[in-house]
Amino acid sequence: MTAPIKNYNKSELQRLDLAHHLPAQADYKELHELGGSRIVTRADGCSFWDIDGKEYLDGMAGLWCVGVGYGRKELADVAYAQMLELPYYNTFFKTANVPAVQLAAKIAGISGGKLQHVFFNSSGSEAVDTMYRMVRYYWKLLGQPYRKTFISRQNGYHGSTVLGASLGGMGGMHNIDHQPVEAIEHIMQPYKFGLGFDETEEAFCNRAVQALEDKILEVGAHNVAAFVGEPIQGAGGVIIPPHGYWPRIEAICRKYGILLVCDEVICGYGRTGEWFGHQTYEVTPDIITTAKQLSSGYAPISATIVSSDIAEVLREKGGDFVHGYTYSGHPVSCAVALKNLEIIENENLIGKIQTETGPYLADALASLKSHPLVGEVRSKGLIAAVEIVSEPGTNQRFGGKEGKAGPIVRDTCIANGLMVRGIRDSIVMCPPMIIEKSQIDFMVDTIRKSLDEAWPKLRGI
Ligand SMILES: *Cc1c(COP(=O)(O)O)cnc(C)c1O
Repeated sequence: MTAPIKNYNKSELQRLDLAHHLPAQADYKELHELGGSRIVTRADGCSFWDIDGKEYLDGMAGLWCVGVGYGRKELADVAYAQMLELPYYNTFFKTANVPAVQLAAKIAGISGGKLQHVFFNSSGSEAVDTMYRMVRYYWKLLGQPYRKTFISRQNGYHGSTVLGASLGGMGGMHNIDHQPVEAIEHIMQPYKFGLGFDETEEAFCNRAVQALEDKILEVGAHNVAAFVGEPIQGAGGVIIPPHGYWPRIEAICRKYGILLVCDEVICGYGRTGEWFGHQTYEVTPDIITTAKQLSSGYAPISATIVSSDIAEVLREKGGDFVHGYTYSGHPVSCAVALKNLEIIENENLIGKIQTETGPYLADALASLKSHPLVGEVRSKGLIAAVEIVSEPGTNQRFGGKEGKAGPIVRDTCIANGLMVRGIRDSIVMCPPMIIEKSQIDFMVDTIRKSLDEAWPKLRGI
């Protein structure tokens, strides 16, 4: 549903933004030099508009979250009705509300298997914090408090709280506070194009999997609490693991009795063409963390989903689980998420990705492979990346260093009306799950055109 167009005073808003607002993940000096933030005013379907009235196709579904697209009146309606019936009540001290109970049951139904118990939070970062506290407590209750070490991966992203930034493997995030949480170890990411260009897929996979076993043995298996990884690393550059990686990672976790945690904050609720990324990669984690597409971004909510085994230990041995947020199980967010999952089901969005738009995106991207600046294209379902290289057939980078070409091509795409992200030297896409084939064509054509336009600039790096 298209919202009415309103007129705003752009220069005044930008002035106030610079004077008072600290937007997320920004270089504030650069922002001042640019004269202020891009101000987005409205959105509909797969597009959004900025304050100048310029339209963008949203190739990122907001921030990997707006699965069902913008302008969904059904979601606005359930939020409105829930605010009137019960806008807020907490879930502390043995209390629940109707949407929270219904959503937990719904999530347990689609998770299937042993993932039957749901703890609600407001953000992906909080879902990860909840997971961490639960895992540490679980091992303590089992009489193994020394199992403290969490193993995650370089360039993994697990949020922006103190724990999330520590558990994540982004060097830049560690610079601020030097990874303050104890006993977190990072191993290599399964990024064949960047780290194993000259290896066979099998040899590279062996090495990436062995890295986990080596780390476990180095730390001492009895000290390790869990391995945590995104089925597909999102913010780390849409890293699609080599064939066989995940089942072998799971086998190592089982061999040493270590919990397997999948951070499904991006993959969850359809992105890969299944309900969850771990289903795509055929593993059975003990815990998954989910957020983003759970409500398609319409209301803040996340879910930490745990196995019956873990829930049983908490129940039988735990006493009070001294953990929770003011907004855990927020009735409005839960009602919106429930309706969002219904839309995903009723419109068969996951089936559409699997049989229609996912393969169509893969084919469209394949047409970029012959472009001299493209080193690799990769996708799974509706998440994708295009690697920019300086020499065809290699993984060499402009300026001899990763991260210089990506922002230039990204900015050219944005100027051409396509919102994508540049992660190091790849252009990354994660469009709404309702995207149509003609919009996929626009996305891929705009990337091709932007590569051509940016070329002279890239040569000058
Ligand atoms: C976005 C993200 C998070 C953090 O979610 P927030 O809602 O931003 O706190 C955690 N893990 C993964 C895999 C993510 O992509």
